[in-house]
Amino acid sequence: MDKPLLKCRLCGNQNLSVLIDLGSQPIAHRLLEQPEREFTHSLKLHFCDQCGLNQILDPIDPEILYKGYNYCFSSWKPEPHREKELDLINSHKSRAKVFEIGCNDGLFLEELEKRGQELCVGLEPNAFAARIARETRGLKVYETFLDEQTVREIKNAFGLFDVVLARQVLEHVPGKLFLISESGGQVKQDNMKIKVSYRYWHLFIYSISVFWYC
Ligand SMILES: [Zn+2]
Repeated sequence: MDKPLLKCRLCGNQNLSVLIDLGSQPIAHRLLEQPEREFTHSLKLHFCDQCGLNQILDPIDPEILYKGYNYCFSSWKPEPHREKELDLINSHKSRAKVFEIGCNDGLFLEELEKRGQELCVGLEPNAFAARIARETRGLKVYETFLDEQTVREIKNAFGLFDVVLARQVLEHVPGKLFLISESGGQVKQDNMKIKVSYRYWHLFIYSISVFWYC
């Protein structure tokens, strides 16, 4: 058994097993634009014996992994649940103010606009995706990670939102509870649902339900 220095992100357990160790790897699909030494990073997956969560304890710095990543966009990525998610939101909220954390190229927000939602605002740290959302879809997009200053700025600009979304986001954020509490400052009470792919889970914080599902 490997004894990592870090503890389980979910339960704090320090007894984790190495599930698979793939050694030092480059970032998938990020092609070099000129001859240069390629960035690599340890890719090791741990399993928590206590809560069962699989996790990477030593992730790549998000500034490196996401900000210059010109590959994974909603426009071509298969999202088989997209229509159901859109219908689910619209069945609960109409003419609403919607904020999406990690809006990518804005496809989902644009679809919500087409279905009559009143205001759609996004946050996306990746410059390539954010530019598509702004320039081709005309969306208001904050090009940054979610932090306290950005939350304050958004609240000052738009007030509270009826719906805050984070699709395929939480499983990429090491500080999940921070993300949830910060976004909780943007949503009207009892109005928040976050859906992400991965696992099925419930957390109740500030009247917020968080769903992780397979
Ligand atoms: Zn655990």
